[in-house]
Amino acid sequence: MKDEKEKSYALTEKKENFSEWYNQIVRITGIIDHRYPVKGCEVLMPFGIELLDNITEKLEKMLKDNGNKKVLFPLFIPESFLRKESEHIKGFEEEVYHVTHAGKNKLMEPLIIRPTSETAMYPMFSLWIRSHKDLPLKIFQTVSVFRYETKMTKPLVRMREVMFFNESHTAHKNWEDAETEVKNAAKIYSDHFANNLAIPFIINKRPITDTFPGAVYTKAFDAIMPDGKSMQIGTVHNLGDNFSKAFNIEYIDENEEKKHVIQTCYGISTRALAAVIAIHGDDKGLVLPPQIAPVQIVIIPVIFQKEKNRILHESQSLYNKLKKNFRVHLDDRDQPIGSKFYDWEIKGIPLRIVIGPKEIEKNVITITRRLDNEKLTIDEKNVGKFIENLLENIQHDMLRKAQEYHKDKIIHASDKGEAKQAVEEKKFAAVSWCESMECAETIEKEIDASFIGYNSKQQDAKCINCKKAAEHIAYLGRKY
Ligand SMILES: [Zn+2]
Repeated sequence: MKDEKEKSYALTEKKENFSEWYNQIVRITGIIDHRYPVKGCEVLMPFGIELLDNITEKLEKMLKDNGNKKVLFPLFIPESFLRKESEHIKGFEEEVYHVTHAGKNKLMEPLIIRPTSETAMYPMFSLWIRSHKDLPLKIFQTVSVFRYETKMTKPLVRMREVMFFNESHTAHKNWEDAETEVKNAAKIYSDHFANNLAIPFIINKRPITDTFPGAVYTKAFDAIMPDGKSMQIGTVHNLGDNFSKAFNIEYIDENEEKKHVIQTCYGISTRALAAVIAIHGDDKGLVLPPQIAPVQIVIIPVIFQKEKNRILHESQSLYNKLKKNFRVHLDDRDQPIGSKFYDWEIKGIPLRIVIGPKEIEKNVITITRRLDNEKLTIDEKNVGKFIENLLENIQHDMLRKAQEYHKDKIIHASDKGEAKQAVEEKKFAAVSWCESMECAETIEKEIDASFIGYNSKQQDAKCINCKKAAEHIAYLGRKY
C-alpha cells in the first residue's frame, strides 16, 4: 500500500504529457475515482464534491441575483417530446439513452433520459405562461445529464453522465428582451470564470454548422488548454421562437394579441473545474484559486517532543481564530512533516502556515503561498487582516498569470502559413475572415485545424483565404 502511494506522487511533467498529467492529478488528489465499471461515468470523491459545491454555489448566487429561480425537473422525458423540434432531435438522437422497459413490462410511452432539459421544461412553460405578466420566466437547475459519447471520454471533460450540469432557461416577450438576457448570461459567465475561477476565455459565436440544435445562434466560452486544444466551458443560446412554436408557448400581449415567446438557454458543467485544474496546475499538483478552494489555509504544527503541547496549543488557538472568516484546516495528524507538505501542496491549498518552536519564540507565523512558493513571516497579532489581503492578492495574481498564458496561446496570423505554424505549435490562430463558410472550410483543411468560432468586428482587413473584405476575426485550433 505504501509503495502504491509513493509511486502515485510521481506526477508526469505537465509540459511533457499534459493529458497523462491531467488524468493522474484528478485521481491522486481525490477529485474522482475512475474505476467505476461504466465507461464515461466517474465517482466524484469528497474533495471533488467540495470543489464543485463551491463553484456551483457562487454560480447559483449570481443566477439568483439575475432573477433566475431554482427548479428541479424529472430525469425522464417522454420520447415523443424530444421529436417535437426537428433540429433538436437531429442534434441529439445519436446521443440519447432510451428507457423502454420497467420491470418486466414494455412501456406504452417510451422515455428518454435527459441529454439536456429543453424538451422536459418547455411543455411546462406552455402551461405556466398565459399573459405578458408571466414574462420573463427565468429558471435554472443543477443536475446530471446523460449523453452517449462515442469519442474518447475524459474525466470532467467528456463524460456520458455529465454531472453538475447547470442549465438556465428563460422566456421573453420579444427578441430584444431575449438579446438582453443573452448579454446578462454572458456577463454572469464572464464574471464567474474571471473572478471566481481565474480562467481567461474567448467568447466566440459558433459557425452555423456548430450551433446548438434548435437555436438561432450560439455563443460559447472557449478556454485554451495547455496542449493548445480549445475547451468549451460554457454556452449561451438564443433559441428565438423555434421551441415556442414546437411546444405552443404563447402569451397574450398588452394589446390582447397572441404571440410566441422568445427563449434563451445557457449552461455550464464540470468542465469549469477541468479548466481550473488544467490551466492553474503545475508539476507539483493543483493550484486552487482561493475563491473556490475547499481549504484556503492549512495550519501545520511542527511537533518536537519538548514543546509539543505548547505548539499544538498555539496551532489550535490560531485555527479557532481563523475559522470564523476562512476555510481553514489544522493538520495535527501524527505523520512526518514532509508528507504533510506533500499532501497539501498536491491538493493546491493556497496558503500553508507552519508553527514550530522558532515561530513561537518570536511570536510570528510563517506563511507559504502555493502559487509561487513565496514565504512570508508576519506578526501573529495581525494575522486575520493579513490573510484576507493575501488571499485576495493570490486570486488576482492567478488571473493575471493565466491571462499572460492565454495571450501567449493566441497567434494573430496574417496568412495560412502562419496560421498552420501556430496550430503546429499547439496554439490558436486568430485570422481575418469574410464570413463565407466555404472559406472557413478551405482554411480548416489547409491548416489542419478546426474552425472554433468568431467574434469581434474589424475594419480594413482582408480574408486570409479569398482576400475579400473581412469583418470578423475567426479562431482556429484543435479542440476537445
Ligand atoms: Zn473569404
